[in-house]
Amino acid sequence: MLTCREATRLLSEGLDRELPLRRRVSLRLHVMMCSACRAYGRQIEALSQLASKLFRSDRYPDISEDRGLSDDSRRRIKDTLRRHIH
Ligand SMILES: [Zn+2]
Repeated sequence: MLTCREATRLLSEGLDRELPLRRRVSLRLHVMMCSACRAYGRQIEALSQLASKLFRSDRYPDISEDRGLSDDSRRRIKDTLRRHIH
C-alpha cells in the first residue's frame, strides 16, 4: 500500500511520463481509497492541462495575444505550477 507521499509523487510523475504498470495499479488503488490524493490528482491534472495550453501559446505569441491573460498572471500561474509539479 502506498503512502500519501508516494502517491502524490507518482501522480505528478505520471503527468510527465508513463508509469510502470505495477506503479499505476498501486497508485490507482490508493487513489480509490484516499479522497485527499484523489483531489490532488484532479488538481494537478487540471493544472498540467492549463500549463500545456500556456506553454503552447507561448510558442505562438501572436495567437495568444487576445487570450485575456496578462504576461504577469501567466508568469504567476507558471510559478504555481512549477511548485506543484516539481
Ligand atoms: Zn492518499
